[in-house]
Amino acid sequence: MSMTGVRFIEEPARSIPVSAEYDVLVVGGGPSGLTAALAAAEDGLRVGLIESRSFVGGNMTIGLPVLGFLGQKGNQIIDGLPQKFIERLRRERDGASEHRPCPLHMGITLVEPEAVKTVALEMLIEAGVDVLFYTFFAGALVENDIIRGVVTESKTGRTAILAKVVIDCSGDADVAYSAGVPTEKGNADGGMQPPTLMFCLAGVDTDALRMSIANAPPEARTYLTDFIPAEYFGQNRQFIVVGMRELIAKAKAERGLEIPNERTIIITGLKKGEVWINMTRVKGTDGTNARSLTKGEIEGRAQIDDIVTYLVNYVPGFEKAYFTKTAPFLGIRETRRILGQYVMTQEDVLACKHFDDAIAVASYPIDIHRPSDDGCTLIWCGDCYDIPYRSLVPQKIGNLLVAGRSISATHEAMGAIRVMATCMAMGEAAGRAAKISVRGNRSPADIDIEELRRQQLDHGVYLRNPDGSRAGPPNRAAA
Ligand SMILES: Cc1cc2nc3c(=O)[nH]c(=O)nc-3n(C[C@H](O)[C@H](O)[C@H](O)COP(=O)(O)OP(=O)(O)OC[C@H]3O[C@@H](n4cnc5c(N)ncnc54)[C@H](O)[C@@H]3O)c2cc1C
Repeated sequence: MSMTGVRFIEEPARSIPVSAEYDVLVVGGGPSGLTAALAAAEDGLRVGLIESRSFVGGNMTIGLPVLGFLGQKGNQIIDGLPQKFIERLRRERDGASEHRPCPLHMGITLVEPEAVKTVALEMLIEAGVDVLFYTFFAGALVENDIIRGVVTESKTGRTAILAKVVIDCSGDADVAYSAGVPTEKGNADGGMQPPTLMFCLAGVDTDALRMSIANAPPEARTYLTDFIPAEYFGQNRQFIVVGMRELIAKAKAERGLEIPNERTIIITGLKKGEVWINMTRVKGTDGTNARSLTKGEIEGRAQIDDIVTYLVNYVPGFEKAYFTKTAPFLGIRETRRILGQYVMTQEDVLACKHFDDAIAVASYPIDIHRPSDDGCTLIWCGDCYDIPYRSLVPQKIGNLLVAGRSISATHEAMGAIRVMATCMAMGEAAGRAAKISVRGNRSPADIDIEELRRQQLDHGVYLRNPDGSRAGPPNRAAA
Protein backbone atom coordinates (compact mmCIF):
# COMPACT_ATOMS: atom_id res chain seq x y z
CA MET A 1 0.00 0.00 0.00
CA SER A 2 1.39 3.46 -0.89
CA MET A 3 0.83 6.69 1.03
CA THR A 4 -2.14 7.46 -1.25
CA GLY A 5 -3.86 4.19 -0.51
CA VAL A 6 -3.26 2.82 -4.00
CA ARG A 7 -1.94 -0.74 -4.09
CA PHE A 8 1.05 -1.41 -6.29
CA ILE A 9 2.57 -4.61 -7.65
CA GLU A 10 5.94 -5.03 -9.31
CA GLU A 11 5.93 -5.69 -13.04
CA PRO A 12 8.95 -7.84 -13.86
CA ALA A 13 11.33 -6.38 -16.48
CA ARG A 14 11.10 -8.19 -19.80
CA SER A 15 12.53 -8.05 -23.32
CA ILE A 16 10.15 -6.80 -25.96
CA PRO A 17 10.59 -7.08 -29.73
CA VAL A 18 11.37 -4.03 -31.86
CA SER A 19 8.52 -4.12 -34.34
CA ALA A 20 9.56 -1.16 -36.51
CA GLU A 21 12.23 1.50 -36.96
CA TYR A 22 11.60 4.85 -38.62
CA ASP A 23 13.22 8.19 -39.20
CA VAL A 24 10.10 9.91 -37.87
CA LEU A 25 7.31 8.39 -35.79
CA VAL A 26 4.01 10.24 -35.44
CA VAL A 27 1.80 9.23 -32.50
CA GLY A 28 -1.89 9.93 -33.19
CA GLY A 29 -3.67 10.31 -36.52
CA GLY A 30 -5.95 13.28 -35.87
CA PRO A 31 -5.81 16.59 -37.78
CA SER A 32 -2.28 17.37 -36.56
CA GLY A 33 -0.94 13.82 -36.97
CA LEU A 34 -2.21 13.55 -40.52
CA THR A 35 -0.33 16.60 -41.78
CA ALA A 36 2.72 15.90 -39.59
CA ALA A 37 3.15 12.49 -41.21
CA LEU A 38 2.52 13.81 -44.73
CA ALA A 39 5.07 16.62 -44.35
CA ALA A 40 7.68 14.38 -42.71
CA ALA A 41 7.37 11.89 -45.58
CA GLU A 42 7.46 14.44 -48.42
CA ASP A 43 10.97 13.67 -49.60
CA GLY A 44 11.27 10.01 -48.84
CA LEU A 45 12.09 9.58 -45.17
CA ARG A 46 10.75 6.46 -43.43
CA VAL A 47 7.72 7.68 -41.51
CA GLY A 48 5.42 5.67 -39.27
CA LEU A 49 2.11 6.68 -37.71
CA ILE A 50 0.46 4.80 -34.87
CA GLU A 51 -3.21 5.28 -34.05
CA SER A 52 -5.16 3.61 -31.27
CA ARG A 53 -8.42 3.58 -33.23
CA SER A 54 -9.25 1.84 -36.51
CA PHE A 55 -9.29 5.03 -38.59
CA VAL A 56 -7.47 8.32 -38.93
CA GLY A 57 -9.05 11.75 -38.59
CA GLY A 58 -9.36 12.11 -34.80
CA ASN A 59 -11.92 14.77 -33.92
CA MET A 60 -12.45 15.48 -37.61
CA THR A 61 -14.62 12.35 -37.65
CA ILE A 62 -17.10 13.31 -34.89
CA GLY A 63 -19.38 15.61 -36.88
CA LEU A 64 -17.59 18.90 -36.32
CA PRO A 65 -16.98 21.56 -38.95
CA VAL A 66 -13.36 22.51 -39.49
CA LEU A 67 -12.81 26.01 -38.10
CA GLY A 68 -9.87 28.30 -38.65
CA PHE A 69 -9.28 28.50 -42.40
CA LEU A 70 -10.62 32.06 -42.60
CA GLY A 71 -9.30 34.89 -40.46
CA GLN A 72 -11.16 37.60 -38.59
CA LYS A 73 -10.75 39.90 -41.60
CA GLY A 74 -12.38 37.31 -43.85
CA ASN A 75 -9.33 36.22 -45.85
CA GLN A 76 -7.94 32.69 -45.93
CA ILE A 77 -5.01 32.35 -43.54
CA ILE A 78 -4.35 28.61 -43.63
CA ASP A 79 -3.13 27.05 -46.84
CA GLY A 80 -0.53 24.34 -47.64
CA LEU A 81 -1.35 20.73 -46.75
CA PRO A 82 -4.61 21.46 -44.86
CA GLN A 83 -5.94 23.20 -47.97
CA LYS A 84 -4.78 20.33 -50.22
CA PHE A 85 -6.60 17.88 -47.97
CA ILE A 86 -9.86 19.85 -48.07
CA GLU A 87 -9.62 20.28 -51.85
CA ARG A 88 -9.17 16.57 -52.34
CA LEU A 89 -12.08 15.79 -50.00
CA ARG A 90 -14.28 18.07 -52.06
CA ARG A 91 -13.01 17.00 -55.49
CA GLU A 92 -13.06 13.25 -55.03
CA ARG A 93 -15.79 12.59 -52.46
CA ASP A 94 -17.94 15.68 -52.27
CA GLY A 95 -16.72 15.50 -48.69
CA ALA A 96 -16.12 19.17 -47.87
CA SER A 97 -17.82 22.52 -48.36
CA GLU A 98 -15.97 25.65 -49.37
CA HIS A 99 -14.69 27.84 -46.55
CA ARG A 100 -17.87 29.69 -45.68
CA PRO A 101 -17.69 33.01 -43.87
CA CYS A 102 -19.42 32.97 -40.48
CA PRO A 103 -19.76 36.04 -38.26
CA LEU A 104 -19.21 34.02 -35.08
CA HIS A 105 -16.64 31.45 -36.16
CA MET A 106 -14.96 33.52 -38.92
CA GLY A 107 -15.05 30.59 -41.32
CA ILE A 108 -16.63 27.15 -41.30
CA THR A 109 -15.66 24.27 -43.54
CA LEU A 110 -18.10 21.38 -43.33
CA VAL A 111 -16.62 17.92 -43.78
CA GLU A 112 -18.17 14.48 -44.09
CA PRO A 113 -16.66 12.19 -41.41
CA GLU A 114 -16.54 9.02 -43.54
CA ALA A 115 -14.90 10.90 -46.42
CA VAL A 116 -12.33 12.30 -43.96
CA LYS A 117 -11.40 8.78 -42.86
CA THR A 118 -11.06 7.54 -46.44
CA VAL A 119 -9.21 10.45 -48.00
CA ALA A 120 -6.84 10.97 -45.06
CA LEU A 121 -5.89 7.30 -45.15
CA GLU A 122 -5.42 7.32 -48.93
CA MET A 123 -3.12 10.33 -48.70
CA LEU A 124 -1.01 8.73 -45.97
CA ILE A 125 -0.65 5.47 -47.87
CA GLU A 126 0.23 7.28 -51.11
CA ALA A 127 2.85 9.31 -49.25
CA GLY A 128 4.46 6.06 -48.12
CA VAL A 129 3.60 6.52 -44.44
CA ASP A 130 3.51 3.21 -42.57
CA VAL A 131 0.14 3.44 -40.79
CA LEU A 132 -0.46 1.12 -37.86
CA PHE A 133 -3.98 1.00 -36.40
CA TYR A 134 -5.18 -0.62 -33.17
CA THR A 135 -1.88 0.40 -31.64
CA PHE A 136 -1.81 2.30 -28.37
CA PHE A 137 1.17 4.40 -27.33
CA ALA A 138 2.06 3.00 -23.91
CA GLY A 139 5.31 4.66 -22.92
CA ALA A 140 8.33 6.64 -24.06
CA LEU A 141 11.78 5.05 -24.26
CA VAL A 142 14.08 7.79 -23.01
CA GLU A 143 17.85 7.77 -22.47
CA ASN A 144 19.72 10.89 -21.42
CA ASP A 145 16.90 13.21 -22.42
CA ILE A 146 16.70 11.67 -25.90
CA ILE A 147 13.61 9.73 -26.90
CA ARG A 148 14.71 6.53 -28.63
CA GLY A 149 11.24 5.37 -29.46
CA VAL A 150 8.01 4.24 -27.89
CA VAL A 151 6.46 1.18 -26.34
CA THR A 152 3.15 0.15 -27.88
CA GLU A 153 0.38 -2.16 -26.74
CA SER A 154 -1.92 -3.96 -29.13
CA LYS A 155 -3.33 -7.37 -30.01
CA THR A 156 0.23 -8.16 -31.06
CA GLY A 157 1.36 -7.62 -27.49
CA ARG A 158 3.90 -5.18 -26.17
CA THR A 159 6.46 -4.02 -28.75
CA ALA A 160 8.95 -1.20 -29.23
CA ILE A 161 9.08 1.18 -32.18
CA LEU A 162 12.30 3.14 -32.60
CA ALA A 163 12.64 6.52 -34.31
CA LYS A 164 15.11 9.38 -34.70
CA VAL A 165 12.40 11.98 -34.07
CA VAL A 166 8.98 11.46 -32.49
CA ILE A 167 6.05 13.83 -33.05
CA ASP A 168 3.39 13.73 -30.34
CA CYS A 169 0.00 14.35 -31.99
CA SER A 170 -2.02 12.46 -29.36
CA GLY A 171 -3.92 15.62 -28.35
CA ASP A 172 -3.19 14.69 -24.74
CA ALA A 173 0.63 15.08 -24.86
CA ASP A 174 0.77 11.38 -23.94
CA VAL A 175 4.29 10.96 -25.32
CA ALA A 176 5.70 14.16 -23.85
CA TYR A 177 4.18 13.41 -20.44
CA SER A 178 5.55 9.89 -20.41
CA ALA A 179 8.97 11.17 -21.48
CA GLY A 180 9.10 13.48 -18.47
CA VAL A 181 8.35 16.77 -20.24
CA PRO A 182 6.65 19.14 -17.77
CA THR A 183 2.95 19.54 -18.58
CA GLU A 184 -0.02 21.50 -17.28
CA LYS A 185 -3.73 20.80 -17.23
CA GLY A 186 -6.66 23.19 -17.23
CA ASN A 187 -7.03 26.71 -15.83
CA ALA A 188 -5.65 28.11 -12.58
CA ASP A 189 -8.06 25.82 -10.66
CA GLY A 190 -7.23 22.80 -12.82
CA GLY A 191 -10.63 23.09 -14.55
CA MET A 192 -10.69 21.79 -18.11
CA GLN A 193 -13.16 22.54 -20.90
CA PRO A 194 -15.86 19.86 -20.72
CA PRO A 195 -16.14 17.17 -23.38
CA THR A 196 -19.13 16.58 -25.65
CA LEU A 197 -20.57 13.40 -27.13
CA MET A 198 -21.68 14.62 -30.56
CA PHE A 199 -24.77 13.08 -32.15
CA CYS A 200 -26.55 13.21 -35.45
CA LEU A 201 -30.21 13.71 -36.42
CA ALA A 202 -31.77 13.19 -39.83
CA GLY A 203 -35.07 14.40 -41.25
CA VAL A 204 -34.42 18.01 -40.30
CA ASP A 205 -35.87 20.73 -42.51
CA THR A 206 -32.80 22.95 -42.37
CA ASP A 207 -34.38 25.51 -44.69
CA ALA A 208 -37.32 25.88 -42.31
CA LEU A 209 -34.84 26.27 -39.45
CA ARG A 210 -32.79 28.97 -41.10
CA MET A 211 -35.77 30.88 -42.51
CA SER A 212 -37.48 30.85 -39.12
CA ILE A 213 -34.45 32.67 -37.78
CA ALA A 214 -34.05 34.99 -40.78
CA ASN A 215 -37.72 35.97 -40.95
CA ALA A 216 -38.61 36.28 -37.30
CA PRO A 217 -39.70 39.83 -36.45
CA PRO A 218 -37.16 41.41 -34.09
CA GLU A 219 -39.49 41.28 -31.08
CA ALA A 220 -40.19 37.56 -31.61
CA ARG A 221 -36.67 36.43 -32.29
CA THR A 222 -35.95 33.13 -30.64
CA TYR A 223 -32.41 33.51 -31.76
CA LEU A 224 -30.68 35.89 -29.41
CA THR A 225 -28.08 36.74 -31.98
CA ASP A 226 -25.07 35.24 -30.25
CA PHE A 227 -23.04 37.37 -32.63
CA ILE A 228 -24.57 36.00 -35.85
CA PRO A 229 -27.11 38.43 -37.35
CA ALA A 230 -30.42 36.77 -38.22
CA GLU A 231 -30.12 37.95 -41.83
CA TYR A 232 -27.14 35.65 -42.28
CA PHE A 233 -29.46 32.66 -42.17
CA GLY A 234 -31.49 34.00 -45.08
CA GLN A 235 -28.41 33.74 -47.29
CA ASN A 236 -26.70 30.55 -46.14
CA ARG A 237 -27.84 26.97 -46.57
CA GLN A 238 -24.99 25.47 -44.61
CA PHE A 239 -24.51 27.04 -41.23
CA ILE A 240 -24.01 26.69 -37.51
CA VAL A 241 -26.71 27.86 -35.12
CA VAL A 242 -25.41 28.96 -31.73
CA GLY A 243 -28.09 30.42 -29.51
CA MET A 244 -31.81 29.96 -28.90
CA ARG A 245 -31.13 30.32 -25.22
CA GLU A 246 -34.74 31.26 -24.48
CA LEU A 247 -36.08 28.11 -26.15
CA ILE A 248 -33.88 26.01 -23.88
CA ALA A 249 -35.12 27.94 -20.87
CA LYS A 250 -38.73 27.38 -22.02
CA ALA A 251 -38.20 23.64 -22.53
CA LYS A 252 -36.65 23.36 -19.10
CA ALA A 253 -39.51 25.25 -17.46
CA GLU A 254 -42.35 23.53 -19.33
CA ARG A 255 -41.11 19.97 -19.45
CA GLY A 256 -38.44 19.79 -16.81
CA LEU A 257 -35.92 18.71 -19.42
CA GLU A 258 -32.31 18.50 -18.38
CA ILE A 259 -30.24 20.42 -20.92
CA PRO A 260 -26.60 20.78 -19.86
CA ASN A 261 -25.92 23.72 -22.19
CA GLU A 262 -27.02 27.37 -22.28
CA ARG A 263 -26.92 27.42 -26.04
CA THR A 264 -28.49 25.39 -28.82
CA ILE A 265 -25.63 24.38 -31.12
CA ILE A 266 -26.66 22.88 -34.46
CA ILE A 267 -24.27 22.15 -37.33
CA THR A 268 -25.72 21.34 -40.73
CA GLY A 269 -24.24 18.23 -42.32
CA LEU A 270 -23.31 17.91 -45.98
CA LYS A 271 -26.15 15.42 -46.51
CA LYS A 272 -29.65 16.84 -46.93
CA GLY A 273 -31.65 16.85 -43.72
CA GLU A 274 -28.73 15.83 -41.54
CA VAL A 275 -27.49 17.87 -38.60
CA TRP A 276 -24.92 17.30 -35.86
CA ILE A 277 -25.71 18.46 -32.34
CA ASN A 278 -22.97 19.82 -30.10
CA MET A 279 -24.91 20.10 -26.83
CA THR A 280 -24.07 17.32 -24.42
CA ARG A 281 -21.53 18.45 -21.88
CA VAL A 282 -19.95 16.47 -19.07
CA LYS A 283 -18.27 18.78 -16.61
CA GLY A 284 -15.39 17.47 -14.55
CA THR A 285 -14.23 14.83 -17.04
CA ASP A 286 -10.50 14.16 -17.23
CA GLY A 287 -9.68 12.92 -20.73
CA THR A 288 -6.45 11.35 -19.52
CA ASN A 289 -8.18 8.97 -17.12
CA ALA A 290 -10.02 5.89 -18.39
CA ARG A 291 -12.43 5.79 -15.44
CA SER A 292 -13.33 9.44 -15.90
CA LEU A 293 -13.66 8.98 -19.68
CA THR A 294 -16.02 6.09 -19.08
CA LYS A 295 -18.13 8.20 -16.73
CA GLY A 296 -18.12 10.90 -19.43
CA GLU A 297 -19.39 8.45 -22.05
CA ILE A 298 -22.14 7.22 -19.71
CA GLU A 299 -23.33 10.71 -18.74
CA GLY A 300 -22.96 12.14 -22.25
CA ARG A 301 -25.09 9.34 -23.69
CA ALA A 302 -27.69 9.76 -20.95
CA GLN A 303 -28.05 13.45 -21.82
CA ILE A 304 -29.05 12.82 -25.42
CA ASP A 305 -32.72 11.87 -24.99
CA ASP A 306 -33.71 15.15 -23.31
CA ILE A 307 -31.80 17.19 -25.88
CA VAL A 308 -33.58 15.36 -28.72
CA THR A 309 -36.96 15.92 -27.01
CA TYR A 310 -36.11 19.60 -26.76
CA LEU A 311 -35.06 19.93 -30.39
CA VAL A 312 -38.06 18.06 -31.82
CA ASN A 313 -40.60 19.95 -29.71
CA TYR A 314 -39.19 23.45 -29.60
CA VAL A 315 -36.86 24.16 -32.52
CA PRO A 316 -38.37 25.00 -35.93
CA GLY A 317 -37.56 22.49 -38.68
CA PHE A 318 -37.08 19.58 -36.23
CA GLU A 319 -40.73 18.44 -36.21
CA LYS A 320 -39.94 15.26 -38.17
CA ALA A 321 -36.35 14.85 -37.06
CA TYR A 322 -35.08 11.54 -35.70
CA PHE A 323 -31.90 10.43 -33.96
CA THR A 324 -29.51 8.39 -36.11
CA LYS A 325 -26.13 7.97 -34.40
CA THR A 326 -23.57 9.21 -31.93
CA ALA A 327 -20.01 10.09 -32.87
CA PRO A 328 -17.53 7.21 -32.44
CA PHE A 329 -16.17 8.65 -29.19
CA LEU A 330 -16.58 11.42 -26.63
CA GLY A 331 -14.97 14.61 -27.99
CA ILE A 332 -12.27 15.87 -25.64
CA ARG A 333 -11.66 19.61 -25.78
CA GLU A 334 -8.81 19.96 -23.35
CA THR A 335 -6.32 17.92 -21.38
CA ARG A 336 -2.55 18.35 -20.98
CA ARG A 337 -0.46 21.08 -22.50
CA ILE A 338 3.31 20.81 -22.63
CA LEU A 339 5.69 23.39 -21.29
CA GLY A 340 7.84 24.19 -24.28
CA GLN A 341 10.54 26.63 -25.20
CA TYR A 342 7.85 29.31 -25.38
CA VAL A 343 4.39 29.39 -23.77
CA MET A 344 1.77 31.14 -25.92
CA THR A 345 -0.52 33.36 -23.85
CA GLN A 346 -3.85 35.14 -24.08
CA GLU A 347 -1.89 38.41 -24.43
CA ASP A 348 -0.11 37.05 -27.53
CA VAL A 349 -3.42 36.11 -29.12
CA LEU A 350 -5.15 39.39 -28.25
CA ALA A 351 -2.14 41.46 -29.39
CA CYS A 352 -2.18 39.66 -32.77
CA LYS A 353 1.47 38.91 -32.05
CA HIS A 354 4.12 38.37 -34.68
CA PHE A 355 6.95 35.94 -33.90
CA ASP A 356 10.31 35.65 -35.70
CA ASP A 357 9.92 31.87 -35.58
CA ALA A 358 6.29 31.83 -36.82
CA ILE A 359 5.46 28.57 -38.55
CA ALA A 360 1.71 29.17 -38.98
CA VAL A 361 -0.83 31.95 -38.75
CA ALA A 362 -4.10 31.58 -36.88
CA SER A 363 -7.07 33.80 -36.20
CA TYR A 364 -9.68 31.81 -34.34
CA PRO A 365 -10.88 33.70 -31.24
CA ILE A 366 -10.36 32.53 -27.70
CA ASP A 367 -13.33 30.17 -27.26
CA ILE A 368 -13.59 28.53 -23.86
CA HIS A 369 -16.47 26.28 -22.91
CA ARG A 370 -16.17 27.19 -19.27
CA PRO A 371 -15.15 24.29 -17.03
CA SER A 372 -17.42 25.29 -14.13
CA ASP A 373 -20.78 26.30 -15.66
CA ASP A 374 -22.85 25.81 -18.82
CA GLY A 375 -21.58 28.87 -20.65
CA CYS A 376 -18.85 29.94 -23.02
CA THR A 377 -16.32 32.78 -23.13
CA LEU A 378 -15.42 34.26 -26.51
CA ILE A 379 -12.78 36.94 -27.13
CA TRP A 380 -11.75 38.23 -30.54
CA CYS A 381 -8.53 40.04 -31.41
CA GLY A 382 -9.66 41.51 -34.74
CA ASP A 383 -6.96 39.93 -36.87
CA CYS A 384 -4.40 37.09 -36.93
CA TYR A 385 -1.69 35.92 -34.57
CA ASP A 386 1.37 33.77 -35.24
CA ILE A 387 2.14 30.33 -33.83
CA PRO A 388 5.83 30.25 -32.84
CA TYR A 389 7.89 27.14 -33.57
CA ARG A 390 9.23 27.22 -30.00
CA SER A 391 5.75 26.32 -28.69
CA LEU A 392 6.03 22.98 -30.53
CA VAL A 393 9.43 22.22 -28.98
CA PRO A 394 9.12 20.74 -25.49
CA GLN A 395 11.45 21.40 -22.62
CA LYS A 396 13.80 18.61 -21.60
CA ILE A 397 13.58 16.13 -24.50
CA GLY A 398 15.70 17.09 -27.51
CA ASN A 399 14.22 15.06 -30.34
CA LEU A 400 10.50 15.30 -29.61
CA LEU A 401 8.00 17.69 -31.18
CA VAL A 402 4.38 18.28 -30.19
CA ALA A 403 1.62 19.46 -32.53
CA GLY A 404 -2.12 19.95 -32.11
CA ARG A 405 -4.09 21.07 -29.11
CA SER A 406 -1.43 20.14 -26.54
CA ILE A 407 1.33 22.54 -27.63
CA SER A 408 2.90 24.92 -25.17
CA ALA A 409 0.16 27.49 -24.50
CA THR A 410 -1.86 28.67 -21.53
CA HIS A 411 -5.43 27.45 -20.95
CA GLU A 412 -6.69 30.69 -22.57
CA ALA A 413 -4.41 30.61 -25.63
CA MET A 414 -5.19 26.93 -26.07
CA GLY A 415 -8.86 27.93 -26.31
CA ALA A 416 -7.90 29.75 -29.52
CA ILE A 417 -5.30 27.51 -31.17
CA ARG A 418 -7.26 24.28 -30.66
CA VAL A 419 -9.39 24.38 -33.82
CA MET A 420 -8.70 21.86 -36.54
CA ALA A 421 -7.36 24.01 -39.39
CA THR A 422 -4.81 25.43 -36.95
CA CYS A 423 -3.97 21.93 -35.67
CA MET A 424 -3.37 20.77 -39.24
CA ALA A 425 -1.11 23.79 -39.85
CA MET A 426 0.90 23.00 -36.73
CA GLY A 427 1.19 19.37 -37.77
CA GLU A 428 2.56 20.33 -41.16
CA ALA A 429 5.21 22.52 -39.51
CA ALA A 430 6.19 19.82 -37.03
CA GLY A 431 6.49 17.21 -39.79
CA ARG A 432 8.68 19.45 -41.87
CA ALA A 433 10.81 20.38 -38.86
CA ALA A 434 11.28 16.68 -38.10
CA LYS A 435 12.34 16.08 -41.70
CA ILE A 436 14.88 18.93 -41.58
CA SER A 437 16.12 17.59 -38.26
CA VAL A 438 16.71 14.07 -39.59
CA ARG A 439 18.18 15.26 -42.89
CA GLY A 440 20.56 17.64 -41.14
CA ASN A 441 21.30 15.31 -38.25
CA ARG A 442 20.39 18.02 -35.75
CA SER A 443 17.93 18.02 -32.91
CA PRO A 444 14.59 19.70 -33.73
CA ALA A 445 15.43 22.32 -31.11
CA ASP A 446 18.58 23.23 -33.05
CA ILE A 447 17.37 23.33 -36.64
CA ASP A 448 17.72 26.48 -38.70
CA ILE A 449 14.30 28.09 -38.27
CA GLU A 450 14.79 30.30 -41.33
CA GLU A 451 15.25 27.10 -43.35
CA LEU A 452 12.01 25.73 -41.89
CA ARG A 453 10.16 28.94 -42.72
CA ARG A 454 11.60 28.92 -46.26
CA GLN A 455 10.42 25.36 -46.78
CA GLN A 456 7.02 26.22 -45.33
CA LEU A 457 6.64 29.05 -47.85
CA ASP A 458 7.88 26.84 -50.69
CA HIS A 459 5.12 24.38 -49.84
CA GLY A 460 2.41 27.01 -49.92
CA VAL A 461 2.05 27.57 -46.18
CA TYR A 462 0.52 30.93 -45.22
CA LEU A 463 2.94 33.14 -43.26
CA ARG A 464 2.84 36.90 -42.70
CA ASN A 465 5.21 39.78 -43.39
CA PRO A 466 5.76 42.26 -40.54
CA ASP A 467 3.11 44.53 -42.11
CA GLY A 468 0.56 41.70 -41.96
CA SER A 469 0.50 40.95 -45.69
CA ARG A 470 0.98 37.37 -46.89
CA ALA A 471 4.64 36.40 -47.20
CA GLY A 472 5.51 35.00 -50.60
CA PRO A 473 7.70 31.99 -51.32
CA PRO A 474 11.33 33.11 -50.91
CA ASN A 475 12.20 32.73 -54.59
CA ARG A 476 9.23 34.85 -55.62
CA ALA A 477 9.88 37.44 -52.93
CA ALA A 478 13.44 37.85 -54.22
CA ALA A 479 12.36 38.20 -57.85
C1 LIG B 1 -16.87 18.61 -28.74
C2 LIG B 1 -15.82 19.37 -29.46
C3 LIG B 1 -16.19 20.37 -30.33
C4 LIG B 1 -15.22 21.03 -31.07
N1 LIG B 1 -15.62 21.89 -32.04
C5 LIG B 1 -14.74 22.22 -33.00
C6 LIG B 1 -15.19 22.78 -34.22
O1 LIG B 1 -16.38 23.00 -34.42
N2 LIG B 1 -14.26 23.05 -35.17
C7 LIG B 1 -12.92 22.85 -34.97
O2 LIG B 1 -12.12 23.11 -35.88
N3 LIG B 1 -12.46 22.33 -33.80
C8 LIG B 1 -13.35 21.98 -32.84
N4 LIG B 1 -12.91 21.37 -31.69
C9 LIG B 1 -11.47 21.27 -31.41
C10 LIG B 1 -10.74 20.24 -32.24
O3 LIG B 1 -11.60 19.19 -32.62
C11 LIG B 1 -9.53 19.63 -31.51
O4 LIG B 1 -8.87 20.58 -30.72
C12 LIG B 1 -8.55 19.05 -32.53
O5 LIG B 1 -9.17 17.99 -33.22
C13 LIG B 1 -7.27 18.58 -31.90
O6 LIG B 1 -6.50 17.94 -32.89
P1 LIG B 1 -5.31 16.98 -32.48
O7 LIG B 1 -4.70 16.49 -33.73
O8 LIG B 1 -4.45 17.69 -31.50
O9 LIG B 1 -6.01 15.82 -31.64
P2 LIG B 1 -7.21 14.80 -31.95
O10 LIG B 1 -8.15 15.31 -32.96
O11 LIG B 1 -7.76 14.48 -30.60
O12 LIG B 1 -6.48 13.53 -32.52
C14 LIG B 1 -5.64 12.74 -31.70
C15 LIG B 1 -5.49 11.36 -32.31
O13 LIG B 1 -4.51 10.64 -31.57
C16 LIG B 1 -5.01 9.36 -31.23
N5 LIG B 1 -4.40 8.98 -29.95
C17 LIG B 1 -4.55 9.64 -28.78
N6 LIG B 1 -3.85 9.03 -27.82
C18 LIG B 1 -3.25 7.97 -28.39
C19 LIG B 1 -2.38 6.95 -27.90
N7 LIG B 1 -2.01 6.92 -26.60
N8 LIG B 1 -1.94 6.00 -28.77
C20 LIG B 1 -2.32 6.04 -30.08
N9 LIG B 1 -3.14 6.96 -30.59
C21 LIG B 1 -3.59 7.94 -29.75
C22 LIG B 1 -6.51 9.53 -31.14
O14 LIG B 1 -7.19 8.32 -31.36
C23 LIG B 1 -6.77 10.56 -32.25
O15 LIG B 1 -7.00 9.95 -33.50
C24 LIG B 1 -13.85 20.74 -30.88
C25 LIG B 1 -13.47 19.77 -29.95
C26 LIG B 1 -14.45 19.07 -29.27
C27 LIG B 1 -14.02 18.00 -28.34
